[in-house]
Amino acid sequence: THPHDTVVHIGSGESTTAIGGTALAIIAGPCAVETHDQMLNTARAVKAAGASALRAGAFKPRTSPYGFAGHGEEGLKILRSVGDEVGLPVVTEVMDTADIDTVAQYADALQIGARNMHNFALLRAVGAAGKPVLLKRGIAAKIDEWLLAAEYILAAGNPDVVLVERGIRTFETATRNTLDLNAVPYVRQRTHLPVLVDPSHGTGIRDLVAPMALASVACGADGLLIEVHEDPEQALSDGAQSLYPAQFDGLMRALAPVAAAVGRT
Ligand code: PEP
Ligand code: MN
Repeated sequence: THPHDTVVHIGSGESTTAIGGTALAIIAGPCAVETHDQMLNTARAVKAAGASALRAGAFKPRTSPYGFAGHGEEGLKILRSVGDEVGLPVVTEVMDTADIDTVAQYADALQIGARNMHNFALLRAVGAAGKPVLLKRGIAAKIDEWLLAAEYILAAGNPDVVLVERGIRTFETATRNTLDLNAVPYVRQRTHLPVLVDPSHGTGIRDLVAPMALASVACGADGLLIEVHEDPEQALSDGAQSLYPAQFDGLMRALAPVAAAVGRT
């Protein structure tokens, strides 16, 4: 791979975690912050299973304007306090330049969602926000467009960019998206940036998440973004692709020998 691989550190103090290098970063949590109890129960479960960071959205990009759009700053407060309580850094999406300062006040890393990968004003602004950025691949973005979107953030002065493959829209409708694992070794050979895979949005189907997570690590991913919910049947968004805590624990156990085989710790 690249001679000068970027390692991105997220968080502060004891809960700092590395993305890139020999680390295997596992960022897990619900699609959205719903309640304090939902976050705390889910966070405790993913921490116990070995996750390295906690994820959840407070600003949600919903296809329908009538869908649950997240709790905004109240959600950020819950995410931050739960992350601190369990000892995990926290990652959350920012959708609008106007919200960057607020989100950056609570989050250890800012996620740019697939629907905003082409939002160049937002990319430039998070490039100046002073926090690591997870950049999702756009729903219909070519790899080169995704890398140029990353370049917007880097060119604005932020070296801490993590690419996230989350599936693309194809003619196939059996799965929510088509997870493009070709992209993983491709971007690892072409760039110095770490790359994560999100098999939750990549498949949309809970029982496909573990096999695609294993394949992602086998083909060189620097880590995973996985949706886990304490009670997926009751989730306000993306329940069908959210793992039960016990399934996540099983996945973490299954990952260990695969990670070891590709030199990940
Ligand atoms: C998410 O991570 O919850 C999300 C909305 O992802 P994406 O932007 O990849 O659809
Ligand atoms: Mn989601």
